[in-house]
Formats: sequence, C-alpha cells, structure tokens
Amino acid sequence: MKTLGSWGRYPYSPQQPIPCHWRQQVAEQGLAWRDCQAVGLPYGNGRSYGDSCLASSDQVLYMRPLARFIEADWQQGLVTVEAGMTLGELLQCSIAKGWFLPVTPGTRLATVGGAIANDVHGKNHHVQGTFGRHVDGIELVRTDLGLVQCSPTAHAELFNATLGGLGLTGVIVAATLRLRRIASSKIRLQQIRFDNLREYFAISRELDIRHEYNVAWVDCLAPLSQIGRGVFLAGDHHDQAPCKPRPVTTVRIPITPPIPLFNQLTLRALNSLYFRCKGTRPERLQDYDAFFYPLDRLLEWNRIYGPWGFQQYQCVIPHGDAEEAVGELLATIRRHNEGSFLAVLKNCGDMPSPGLLSFPMPGVSLALDFPQRGERTRKLFLILDHIVRDAGGRLYPAKDAHMSGDDFRAAYPAWERLENLRDPALLSQFWQRVTLQ
Ligand SMILES: Cc1cc2nc3c(=O)[nH]c(=O)nc-3n(C[C@H](O)[C@H](O)[C@H](O)COP(=O)(O)OP(=O)(O)OC[C@H]3O[C@@H](n4cnc5c(N)ncnc54)[C@H](O)[C@@H]3O)c2cc1C
Repeated sequence: MKTLGSWGRYPYSPQQPIPCHWRQQVAEQGLAWRDCQAVGLPYGNGRSYGDSCLASSDQVLYMRPLARFIEADWQQGLVTVEAGMTLGELLQCSIAKGWFLPVTPGTRLATVGGAIANDVHGKNHHVQGTFGRHVDGIELVRTDLGLVQCSPTAHAELFNATLGGLGLTGVIVAATLRLRRIASSKIRLQQIRFDNLREYFAISRELDIRHEYNVAWVDCLAPLSQIGRGVFLAGDHHDQAPCKPRPVTTVRIPITPPIPLFNQLTLRALNSLYFRCKGTRPERLQDYDAFFYPLDRLLEWNRIYGPWGFQQYQCVIPHGDAEEAVGELLATIRRHNEGSFLAVLKNCGDMPSPGLLSFPMPGVSLALDFPQRGERTRKLFLILDHIVRDAGGRLYPAKDAHMSGDDFRAAYPAWERLENLRDPALLSQFWQRVTLQ
C-alpha cells in the first residue's frame, strides 16, 4: 500500500500504513507497539488538513478497511458501525431507510472514527451541536487497558476525552450513533447575497432562528471597501418524499501540477464572478450531496495547490468581538494579497460540546485555505493568530499545522486531562508540537 498524508499535504511527512481489516488486529498491533516501546496513531481517511492525523513515528493504523455495519435498528435510527466506515457509506444505507446524520462536516469522506476524534461540527451547530452529542457508545482499544466499552454512563471520563480526543485516547474500533429522521433526501435552499460583514451578521441572527443549516461563502479577495461581501445559504430538510441516496458523480484531478493552479489574479476574477452569479434567489430544492458536500465531487482537489500543499486556517471568535475581529482578519488577508476561493463563515451556537478538546464555542467560525508559501504564510499566520488571541478565539486542531504550543495550551486548558488519559503508545505530530515542545 502507498504511503499516506494529510489533506493539506503540509507538512510533507509520508505515513507508513498498517491496514486494519479485523477488529482483533487493533489490539495485536497495539501490543506490538507497546512491547517494543514504539508509538503509532489511528488514521481514518486523511481528511484532516494539518498534522493531527500524522504519527510522530510516521507509522499509522489505517482504519478504512474496517467499514462494516455491526447492528442497525431502523425503527429507532440507532446504528453500530465499524470506525473506518465513511459518513457517505453510512448515508448510502441510512437515507433509503429515512435516516440522516444529525451532524455532518463538509465532506462525506471522513470516517466515523475520524469524525468522533475531531468531534466535528456542521452547518447546524446552533441546533444540533457537535457530532459527539449523537454518539451513544464507543468500543475503544487501548494498549494498557485492552477493550473498553465506553459511553456517557460507563467510563464516562474516557468517553468524553475520546470525543475530540485527536486519536490519542485509544483506537475507536466501533461506535453507536443516533441518527435523525428525514422525510426527503432533498434540501430546501435559500440563497441570499450580502454586501458586507454587517449584513452577514444581521442575516445570520435572523436566519439562525428559522433554519437548521446555515453557512456563508465570503469573498476574501474583494476590494477593501467591499470586504466581507458574500453569499449566505440557509437550508432545511424537505418534508416530502422521496428519500433516495443519490449515486454521486465525481471528477478526479489526475496529477499534481508543478505550481498552484490559481494565482491572486485568477482567484480574484473567480471570486468576483462567483459573487455576481450567486445573487439572492427564491427558495429551491437541492440534492443533499450538492448542499452538504460540494467539494467531494472533485476528487483529490487538494492537488490544485501544487507540490507544496496548502494550509487551512480555521478559527472561532466569541460573539462579543466577532464582527470586528472577523473584519480585521479579512482585511489583513486582503492586504497581504493572500487567501483563496474557499472562505467560509459559520455560526457556532451555545450548545456545550461534550468533548474535552472540542473546537466549537459560542461564536463565529471563519475558515480559509492558503497555498503554502513558506515564510510568507508563516508571517501572515502570526498576525492572524494575534487577532484571534486578542478576541479570545481559538484555532481548530483538525485543520492546523502551525499553532504555537502557548496558544494551544491557553485555548484548550483541558489538554492536561487529555494527556493524562492518553494511550502511551499513541502520539501524533500535532500533539508533540503543541504539548511537548
Ligand atoms: C472538504 C472538507 C470539508 C470539511 N468540513 C468540515 C466541517 O464542516 N466541520 C468539521 O468539523 N470538519 C470538517 N473537515 C475536517 C474533517 O471532517 C475532519 O478532519 C475529520 O476528522 C476527518 O476524518 P478522517 O476519517 O479523514 O480522519 P483523519 O483525518 O484520518 O484523522 C483525524 C483524527 O482522527 C483520529 N482517528 C481517525 N480514525 C480513528 C479511530 N478509528 N480511532 C481513534 N482515532 C481516530 C486520527 O488519529 C486523527 O487525530 C473537513 C475536511 C474536508 C477535507
């Protein structure tokens, strides 16, 4: 099997996979690491952008082959699946039975284990909170304790630490999830254009109360006078049949180009065109996969950034200072002539996250992709970090490849509790960088 990496392809650090086909294999591999005092890390489908899915030893337990249903109660919408199953594979079965994921990230290619380990959030955080809130039980294999069945009532501390536990508290081999009922696989979609951040915040306040799913694309390369313009998408599950999983049509980026496919000129033109084409439109129906997973249609789109890869910068800023801080972040990015097509604003609600290190907090999340340009990127991120820190915000470990240890430890004070519960044979490059250096 070929080596693996992270989605941003930065840092470049090829991982040697140990494919895991049977649940028993996890314990055997764990013991092998423990006996020779080596370390490794579980790896799902590599949809984390930075170094949180990279093992400090470069040796990972590849969980994708573990992708079977163990039990399914389609009356109650309760399923137990192996951890390597992708969210898309789960939906392919569940939609036909009238059930959907209560929380989904913007990719259906994340595995159940990966979604739990980052306690991922979706466009409905203000209504449903994080993925971990809908997990009823986890089958966890540790090298020191063996198999542990944990849930909110059994081994609760380990359970909570495993939600958002970055793959460090043990290997999740299976999980029981509570799904949500749907009548239709279609989404009722409303699209509204906004001209600045003030308008975005006003629309968000109004539509968050009325709609389950809210997200906005923002044009980070707009002229400084129009900074914060964009398009707001509000959606809800349609209430009329049919409930049909769609076969998804995809196109693959076949090669990694020698240089990034976009430069600031082409990106500015593309953003401008998108902004103009995506005007305010009356409500319409859209297939669920086009609404939730537009990027998954272009397989290996991470290649477009060329051989040096890219970094995503995702932060959440508490509500109080959000408008000012997000404005400052966007203006700084614009002044540095950086940024990309993918800039997303989402509201995080006040539903508490169950995990010790879950990322969301009440506030506004901004996520942008940046082609990796070495020193230039590093210097820009230092300024952005300063703005986020001053506003009391924090960065998302699942997307991170640069956060300083000081910033991490200040923003995630529960990190020491996680360190105390860490399986001694599991260690990621991220954890080594932010806690041990
Ligand atoms: C296009 C795109 C859109 C995205 N949108 C969102 C979004 O809207 N919201 C959001 O929150 N995230 C989002 N993400 C990030 C992604 O959902 C997370 O990084 C997710 O954790 C990736 O899952 P994975 O299976 O690929 O895990 P990997 O990236 O392989 O691993 C992620 C972490 O999970 C651990 N892990 C994996 N499997 C197991 C296991 N079986 N047991 C224990 N630990 C395990 C790994 O050690 C690692 O720490 C997006 C990513 C992409 C590429």
